Amino acid sequence: MKTIQTDVLVCGGGCAGIAAALSSARNGVKTLLIERAGFSGGIITTVGLPYFDGLIDKPSGRFVVKGIPLELLQKLGVAKEGAKHIDDLRPDLITKYWGSVWIPNIEEFKLLSDELILKHSDHLTVLYHSMACDVEEKEGRITAVIIANKDGLTRVEARQVIDCTGDGDIAHWAGCPTIKSTPLMPLTMHFRIGNVVPVKETKDAAKKALIAAHKEGRLPNFYGPGLIFAFAKDECYVHATRVPADATDAADFTRAEIQGRKDAWTIFNEWKTKVPGFENSYYIMSGPYIGVRDTRRIVGLNVLTLEDLQKTTPHDDAIATGCWFLDIHPPEVTLDKPFTGSGFQPKPYDISYRTLVPQKVSNLLVAGRCHSASSEASASSRVTATAMALGEAAGTAAALATKSKTEVGILNGVNVREALTQKNAGPFTDA
Ligand SMILES: Cc1cc2nc3c(=O)[nH]c(=O)nc-3n(C[C@H](O)[C@H](O)[C@H](O)COP(=O)(O)OP(=O)(O)OC[C@H]3O[C@@H](n4cnc5c(N)ncnc54)[C@H](O)[C@@H]3O)c2cc1C
Repeated sequence: MKTIQTDVLVCGGGCAGIAAALSSARNGVKTLLIERAGFSGGIITTVGLPYFDGLIDKPSGRFVVKGIPLELLQKLGVAKEGAKHIDDLRPDLITKYWGSVWIPNIEEFKLLSDELILKHSDHLTVLYHSMACDVEEKEGRITAVIIANKDGLTRVEARQVIDCTGDGDIAHWAGCPTIKSTPLMPLTMHFRIGNVVPVKETKDAAKKALIAAHKEGRLPNFYGPGLIFAFAKDECYVHATRVPADATDAADFTRAEIQGRKDAWTIFNEWKTKVPGFENSYYIMSGPYIGVRDTRRIVGLNVLTLEDLQKTTPHDDAIATGCWFLDIHPPEVTLDKPFTGSGFQPKPYDISYRTLVPQKVSNLLVAGRCHSASSEASASSRVTATAMALGEAAGTAAALATKSKTEVGILNGVNVREALTQKNAGPFTDA
């Protein structure tokens, strides 16, 4: 089998992975990013979701995440230079009610990621259409990650590995303890409908059409109405499908993808035939992948808990700040709001470096939605801007460990925090 050697291997080029790869390379170590899709961006580009949630502390409007996520927003023309507050963002791309900001075009995000990766080609290489599919582990170290792509199988030998697969694939295959929530949050196929002329009755009628389709057995599950006009006034971006499944089970994941696609078309057809404003509409596209909210999370050296969010537990080794509300999507129908439970809104809270450090393997970090957090806490820490901040911290840590000839599992998170602070990244928990 062919072998590639690198200092740092980042598996998964999603929200966490793109930030991890850039920060590792910018810190001067040889970095390889592998991604199963033909582009980076994860949820943003593989599912089509434009939101950068977790950036803004809703009550105060101030940013609790800066670094690479903010740089991306600046490069996409969403945030001003030196932006610190929701008022420094493009006003047509924010919702103050949610403390939310979105990018105007997800295709542009693919292009920007490519440009940034290529700009750092002295230290950073990307392999798209490449899937991590196994690991070799010896005496508590990952000695190689096996990747599959058009070259066949390749062994990648890396000094440090960062698992940004969202599903904790690498950690799981390496034998690190992981957990799953019960029940898992459902999957959602996002899709877009063009040439919609919304009128006063549109939202209500759309909701009623979904309720009827569900009652009459055409739509097994949904959240409704789930329609948003984020990209253009006549283009409807739909969040309404809801498919309970375990995306770490290949057969169940396939079933969910097929069901999500079918449900998206059912919703489109119901609206086109029954809802004012949709008469001349057309189905633009879905996905290209169904969106996965919730699968494995590592049980790391520290576990972020609901109590940590309620008490805003301080950590010397904080490497990021979370602030999103408890956004728990149930695997059943909900109307008007997508989440259930209190929707508790935490004050900005510290996230410890040790939530990225799995048990049992010393040269692995896990960043993004599969970092170490309880079900409730992860409903807040899983969002995109927070995931990017975790990725940036992991990339910085992997570079520090490589340069100091140690391993990420041994590194002191306080040093990672200091390195992030020097780059105007890391935790911004205190105002
Ligand atoms: C339907 C849906 C709606 C959401 N809505 C919002 C929202 O409105 N706002 C918000 O902020 N957050 C939202 N989230 C949550 C948020 O998007 C994710 O939690 C966030 O993307 C986590 O980032 P990540 O990097 O961990 O995972 P991802 O962004 O999903 O990235 C994981 C990447 O790893 C790749 N990958 C997976 N396995 C492998 C492998 N074995 N080998 C190689 N590559 C692999 C994937 O292709 C993907 O690119 C939503 C999530 C879903 C599913």
